[in-house]
Amino acid sequence: MRILSDFDGVWTDQRGEAAAIQAAFAREAAALMGVEEERAAEEFRGFHERTLEDPASHGWWPRGYLSAFVDEDELLATGAVGRWLDHHADLPGAERWLTAIRAGGHERAEDLVNQSFGPAMRAYRDEAEHRLVPEAREVAQGLAGRGIELVIVSNSPTEKLRSMFAAEGLDEGPLLRLVGDARKWWIEGPEPRRTFNGREVHLDRPRYREILGRERPDVVIGDVASLDLATPAFMRANGELGADLRLLLKGHEKASPWATSQVDLAPEERLVDEVAPSISALLTL
Ligand SMILES: [Mg+2]
Repeated sequence: MRILSDFDGVWTDQRGEAAAIQAAFAREAAALMGVEEERAAEEFRGFHERTLEDPASHGWWPRGYLSAFVDEDELLATGAVGRWLDHHADLPGAERWLTAIRAGGHERAEDLVNQSFGPAMRAYRDEAEHRLVPEAREVAQGLAGRGIELVIVSNSPTEKLRSMFAAEGLDEGPLLRLVGDARKWWIEGPEPRRTFNGREVHLDRPRYREILGRERPDVVIGDVASLDLATPAFMRANGELGADLRLLLKGHEKASPWATSQVDLAPEERLVDEVAPSISALLTL
């Protein structure tokens, strides 16, 4: 059996990391606006709330397509707010932010987000001793002991995956492979797309599709249905992957109800077959 697993939010608890990335963006904006960091952070939370009022329209928009919805992942908050600011320049709060961001030499708020995201993520890993979830070692060793292949496929850099697994004494080998920079977010063009549980999801994701076609997993697990599970669900529906492929959503306290409620839909209408509260569920497949 082969399990293809996402990394961030599955093998890590990303709440602290997401908070650090949001704080870094607010800190940079505060410096540009000449206001207290806490005030900028509070305004940021207000902007984030606005995006969450309509999660089907907000989130991560690389290459001009909505690739993942804002209510699915705390790590998407900063990008969603950046884009929201760029499109709401007429609102007083946003206007003040944008004026300062532009005066600071950034054409768009999204550019400042893109500039601050990577360094903030690296700083958090170095300074806060960001680690895998406590059960990670037992689960990875348990899978290997059963001869189950685990392929970690992540948008994060391979080097990040390698160093965080190595910190738990888990090294790459035939039963643990690490594939970073997977670009699951990369949408080539507008078609195909399909509506799942009332939201339109883009499915032309050739980078992830190529990895899935090569790996042919029996199980895919991820914490963001649009990024991690939509492509394998589509490939299952059109026969490119087996009909017995299982799609697991790693649940968490802020999981999107749009995603978790899909388990009640018919197999061809859903991106999520089961919600797994912990990666420990992989040991009982
Ligand atoms: Mg993830």
